[in-house]
Amino acid sequence: MEGCVLVRYGEIALKSDQTKKWWNKTLLENMEDCLGKNNIDYSSISVVLGRLIVYTEDTRNASIALKNVFGITSLSPAIKLEADFEKIKEKCLELSQDKGKKFRVSARRITKEFSMNSNEINEVLGAYLKEKLNLEVSLLNYDFEMGVEFLEGYAYLFTERIEAYGGLPLGVQGDVLGLVSSGIDSPVAAWLLMKRGCRVDLMHFKITEEGYQKYLKIKENLQKFSYGHEIKDYIFDGVPYLSSTKQKLCENGKEKWLCIFCKRRFLKEAERVCNEKGYLAIITGENLGQVASQTLKNLTLLDSTVKIPVLRPVLTYDKNEIVEMARIINTYQISKEKEPKCPFTPNYPMTAGSIGELESIKRILWE
Ligand code: ATP
Ligand code: MG
Repeated sequence: MEGCVLVRYGEIALKSDQTKKWWNKTLLENMEDCLGKNNIDYSSISVVLGRLIVYTEDTRNASIALKNVFGITSLSPAIKLEADFEKIKEKCLELSQDKGKKFRVSARRITKEFSMNSNEINEVLGAYLKEKLNLEVSLLNYDFEMGVEFLEGYAYLFTERIEAYGGLPLGVQGDVLGLVSSGIDSPVAAWLLMKRGCRVDLMHFKITEEGYQKYLKIKENLQKFSYGHEIKDYIFDGVPYLSSTKQKLCENGKEKWLCIFCKRRFLKEAERVCNEKGYLAIITGENLGQVASQTLKNLTLLDSTVKIPVLRPVLTYDKNEIVEMARIINTYQISKEKEPKCPFTPNYPMTAGSIGELESIKRILWE
């Protein structure tokens, strides 16, 4: 009998054998990084049909830590034993003590060596536990579920299933650069690309010291989801460009263009770094219609200023949906902390900038 964590994954299972092999390997390495960084002792991780199994006695802590590894859909702290029905019954009896009155058995044969089928196991094991512990079977409304999975001659028993975030193993979709501020949206945008398998590095423009300090805490929290990749960041001082541009725009009665020039600057710097370092795309936390400057017209105009793709994963979410994700990453509380308002924002930002006008203002600014 051995303690272990059963790790389930989702979309990896749908891939060709070759892709599956690569993605499983990446997932395994990210899990090793996670267990190491969280100081969890384990003896090995095995890759078996449809599952990864982590051998450890610290099953609960291992499950909680591994929850943040993308590609995993759910985890169960489990006990592995020989697939002998008498032994299974005995162990299930022990595991079902003090877990509540109503229960169900959920058996699953991932490989089919065991002679009884899942329904028979559910029935016989269910009846046994019911009688021995004076329990009530309830398929829908239960206090606990006695899980049994059969795999390659062994049975894995568990009473807990921890839902994880799914997605793809971080690293299988290439490298991107996230423009991350101290606000709520851009950390979520970066997180969503990590969730889909990208290694995300960050770029931050320092406009206030308070904003920068918040950004540093945000980066630390994003790192807790970036197993397998140490997040690098690129920090720039945003103040010199913004002060001189604001002054020139004001002198020419074009102050309302400042937000567009500011975001254009961010994108152009990000594009330069992407080309130099090999990132495939830029990510921003822009959201359609959230503020005056984030109209579809403005976003299209901004896209025309760079050649590299700009990904906006939170474009279509409502604020409360973004907040919900920010709470998961633990960046919501950080982003909510007070900081001075951007000192450069004009009273009436441009909502429908045209390319023609942008070009003529660029000439005024000598850009
Ligand atoms: P967020 O959009 O992250 O909530 P915000 O609302 O302060 O922050 P916006 O004015 O909406 O930022 O800017 C649009 C996008 O530009 C941000 O989502 C982010 O991707 C990027 N951005 C804004 N400020 C910065 C900054 N100081 N450094 C890096 N990127 C930034
Ligand atoms: Mg925003």
